[in-house]
Amino acid sequence: MKNVVIIGGGITGLSTAYYLQQRARRDGVSIRCLVLEKDEKLGGKIQTENIDGFVLEKGPDSFLARKTAATDLCRELGLEGELVGTNPNARKTYILHKGKLHRLPPGTQMGIPTQFGPFATTGLLSVKGKARALMDLVLPRNETDGDQSLGGFLARRLGDEVLEAIAEPLLAGIYAGDARKLSLRATFPQFEMIEKKYRSLILGILAQKRAVQSPSSATKHGSVFLTVKSGLGTIVKRLTEELGAETLRTKSKVTQITARMREERFEYTIHLDHGEHVPADAVVITTPAFSAAEIFPHRDTISEVLQQIPYVSVATIVLAFPQDAVSFPLDGTGFVVPRKEGRTITACTWVSSKWLHTAPEGHKLLRCYVGRAGDEAIVDRPEEEIIAKVRQDLSDIMGITAEPLFTRLTRWKQSMPQYTVGHLNRLQEIETEIMNRWPGLLIAGAGYKGLGVPDCILEGKKTAEQVLEYILQ
Ligand code: FAD
Repeated sequence: MKNVVIIGGGITGLSTAYYLQQRARRDGVSIRCLVLEKDEKLGGKIQTENIDGFVLEKGPDSFLARKTAATDLCRELGLEGELVGTNPNARKTYILHKGKLHRLPPGTQMGIPTQFGPFATTGLLSVKGKARALMDLVLPRNETDGDQSLGGFLARRLGDEVLEAIAEPLLAGIYAGDARKLSLRATFPQFEMIEKKYRSLILGILAQKRAVQSPSSATKHGSVFLTVKSGLGTIVKRLTEELGAETLRTKSKVTQITARMREERFEYTIHLDHGEHVPADAVVITTPAFSAAEIFPHRDTISEVLQQIPYVSVATIVLAFPQDAVSFPLDGTGFVVPRKEGRTITACTWVSSKWLHTAPEGHKLLRCYVGRAGDEAIVDRPEEEIIAKVRQDLSDIMGITAEPLFTRLTRWKQSMPQYTVGHLNRLQEIETEIMNRWPGLLIAGAGYKGLGVPDCILEGKKTAEQVLEYILQ
């Protein structure tokens, strides 16, 4: 019997454990798997609260449908019937510009226009800004090799105005990051490939659209994003049921991993904060990189590189209102806010319009984000101050002055990993070093190769395969 310890009970750790057990059962391999989670609850960033008919997501609220790892897992867990797409009558996205909400021109992908009518008439850009964006059609391709910043890349092809007014606020919604520091290769590698192949981003995306018969990346639900009706927490609940109580331990913070060689294999010992030691033949670390750095067997070069992966703090604020308190037409998924607008909120999701199941009849649910790279101090301010600033923004932008029925603030300290320029090379180097020095020890999760829920699940699945391969050597 081999012992596998998985550190961290977020979606990556739980998926790793689930797929490990599935494959081990299928292949008749005898393993004992244990997930160690420092908090009282499992799920990590996935936290759903169901109260009085409201479905409140404190962290992620949905996942990209075209990345199928999450839908596959939901199917395996018997949750396929619970999957829902966004409201087909409210799929517009808005961007705040000079204090007013403007619709993101249809066909725009991260600022790249693919339908010229809506782009020509949008109030988000000046005539000069639009003309500069269309220069993409004639600009030469970049011949230099190596990683570059996503922001620098978009500004070079489409101009600063598109970057600042459209692309950056949309990106902030995903990474809460500074586009001029994020790595193109680690975030949108497809853009680099389009430039290499087609030279122009606009022409390349149009060519790709023509080549693919289906009109968009939408699924059979007709939606780019999907969620689980009772909340993403149900995925966590079903995974914990499948794994069983004997596999899962909460309130178990790992403080260190030590290793010693025995019969040409490493034996690992996992040290917990309450003094207990757990033996392991293989270990998977799925914690954020800064936590991984602290527990690594020797705090040397590997820890140093892990420690350098920056994380940004954000907070989400859910606000529930009686229907008649919100007269603003909620005909979309919500809006994002560019930095130069000088607002506290970075985005607002019109939750009950985006997902029709999330609020009981006669109510509206909104969720705002605060905090982004270079602007994180707000996350540590007292709750009353944050709520007051958020309500001020909602009043100025949407005219909502009524007292909310309730609010929920969730602070996510150091929660958004930043894949900065060169991230993938650095990762490759430490992965090789870990493999050479600590065989049987693996790292996986949002801090490394993809922070979306489907990326984390896929990473868990791949890591489970690697663990089994190692055990069977
Ligand atoms: P985590 O969820 O961070 O889990 C790691 C776990 O390790 C935690 O539970 C932690 O307590 C534990 N841990 C840490 N140190 C130790 C230790 N020493 N010992 C034991 N345990 C430890 N993605 C989407 O796809 N769609 C969205 O809509 C979306 N929205 C988001 C909104 C917010 C506000 C945030 C913060 C993220 C969002 N994301 C979204 C990203 C996504 O939720 C996360 O990237 C993903 O859930 C991370 O999963 P994980 O298991 O890798 O890490």
